[in-house]
Amino acid sequence: MEDAWRALWRATYVIHLTKVLHNPVAGVILAPVTTPSARSGPSVLPGPSAEHVDVLIVGAGLSGIGAACRLQTDAPGTSFAIVEARSASGGTWDLFRFPGMRSDSDMFTLGYPFRPWTQSRAIVGGQEILRYVRDTAAAYDVDRHISYHCRVVRADWSGQDARWTVTVEDTVTGARAERTCGFLYICSGYYRYDHGYTPDWPGRSDFAGLVVHPQQWPEDLDLTGQRVVVIGSGATAVTIVPAVAGTAASVTMLQRSPSYILSLPNEDPVADLLRKTLPERQAYAAVRWKNARMTTAIYGFCRRHPARARAMLRRGALKRLPAGYDFNTHLTPAYEPWDQRMCLVPNGDFFAAIKSGRAEIVTDHIEEFTETGLRLRSGRHLEADVVVTATGLNLLPLGGIDMTVDAEEVVVGQRVAYKGMMLDAVPNMAFAIGYTNASWTLKVDLVARYVSRMLQYMRQHGYAVVTPRLPPEGMAISPLIDMTSGYFERSRAALPRQGDRAPWRLRQHYFKDAALFRMPVDADGLEFRSASPAVQLTP
Ligand SMILES: Cc1cc2nc3c(=O)[nH]c(=O)nc-3n(C[C@H](O)[C@H](O)[C@H](O)COP(=O)(O)OP(=O)(O)OC[C@H]3O[C@@H](n4cnc5c(N)ncnc54)[C@H](O)[C@@H]3O)c2cc1C
Repeated sequence: MEDAWRALWRATYVIHLTKVLHNPVAGVILAPVTTPSARSGPSVLPGPSAEHVDVLIVGAGLSGIGAACRLQTDAPGTSFAIVEARSASGGTWDLFRFPGMRSDSDMFTLGYPFRPWTQSRAIVGGQEILRYVRDTAAAYDVDRHISYHCRVVRADWSGQDARWTVTVEDTVTGARAERTCGFLYICSGYYRYDHGYTPDWPGRSDFAGLVVHPQQWPEDLDLTGQRVVVIGSGATAVTIVPAVAGTAASVTMLQRSPSYILSLPNEDPVADLLRKTLPERQAYAAVRWKNARMTTAIYGFCRRHPARARAMLRRGALKRLPAGYDFNTHLTPAYEPWDQRMCLVPNGDFFAAIKSGRAEIVTDHIEEFTETGLRLRSGRHLEADVVVTATGLNLLPLGGIDMTVDAEEVVVGQRVAYKGMMLDAVPNMAFAIGYTNASWTLKVDLVARYVSRMLQYMRQHGYAVVTPRLPPEGMAISPLIDMTSGYFERSRAALPRQGDRAPWRLRQHYFKDAALFRMPVDADGLEFRSASPAVQLTP
């Protein structure tokens, strides 16, 4: 099956690479890479205090650092600051430390378009990604703008003053302070950092062993010789299982229901060739384009031809599994490919662990924890020293910030997202939420460029306020993300919604979005206004 996926990739590759230099959307990717310039020039948005900045970025993860780089290059002269709740930058890539932690999308698309990923391996460990993000922050002189231990807890918009008053909590002392900004740019990721999702199982306190959530992995945990049960079937579980299979005494992936698992090669000969023949930046842009195209093609194929996709996934997995493996029970989900996020495993490492006998999948329900392990609904008992609860995240839209607009509370779950980056009737605010079916950065960089362009447009036209406004004729409203994964289901009511047409519909399609994001910023849906007479733009 991997051969079939490779063939699909190759078929789309030649066509798309020849298109790449002629397609207008390609300009988004292949446009000359701008380098950081010194910050200079007037402020974009009004503000009276020393603490005031044009743009306050919330979060110093992949998105916040990328957003700051884009402001420096694409909207020079914009003053900005980054407030970060944790003591370090990098977000997800610093927080998660479980064995095997890695990207499951390729670094050529997870990387920033303006900073080439120069390694030949496309899937790499979390620490390498962290280094890349931090190196980028250093190269673009973003570091010095970050204030750590600063959690934004509320943000109040005043239309009269055309600015946000943001309440920031010191995460060490609990003290609160206010600062102001013209534009609030929320790059807070999508989940709670304090704890992941763990169901409440009966008897858990009876268990004499260790229960660990991948989000809070103990630094000194040594699994050598331990009997490990990993509860879950998502990306984290399929990453941990092969990573610990070599050293643990036994590894069991205990799942209630299976997920789709696709093995893809971690080497890319086409990328290697391009890197040998083209200058670094052009090669990176071409590989990035190719991989974005291919990811989109695979996703589209799965959605249009679910039965064929299921058959291909099955053939590919069976080829790597031991003869007679019970595929129907352990690897056949009840939903269609990409109804939930698909698990990608490099070079089939997960299947190899199963085939070697060092790991097994058990599909069953937990009845209760016992002193020595887990009793299952089937009556089977799994002995365990360590239970890893790879049971997911708790979604947290927009950093959990309480927001008001002219004293009226913003209920995020009742707002409609404009281009998947702003909320209707919420002025001067954008948020960075990436794709669920492709690399996160593909979307958040479109947003970062758009925000910079919007700020430049406002500066040129003397505007101080931009507000998305729903079409007067109304439209059908639906959930923003139509995946059925548990964490989306649990949080659906708290997430913004989407409309039924551009620019209110989230398409989860990079190339369609790239075209949408290239449209003039004064296109439908945005209302601009100057500052009230009392508020002047900084000359
Ligand atoms: C285990 C795991 C693996 C993943 N693998 C991939 C992958 O392979 N490919 C992919 O595309 N995506 C992947 N993702 C999604 C991943 O989260 C994104 O790729 C990306 O790292 C998100 O970056 P971010 O900056 O938007 O958010 P985060 O990395 O979550 O960073 C957000 C930052 O904002 C800070 N923050 C949050 N709220 C506040 C607040 N109120 N005030 C101040 N600071 C705040 C946080 O402390 C954090 O530092 C993965 C996610 C997880 C959990």
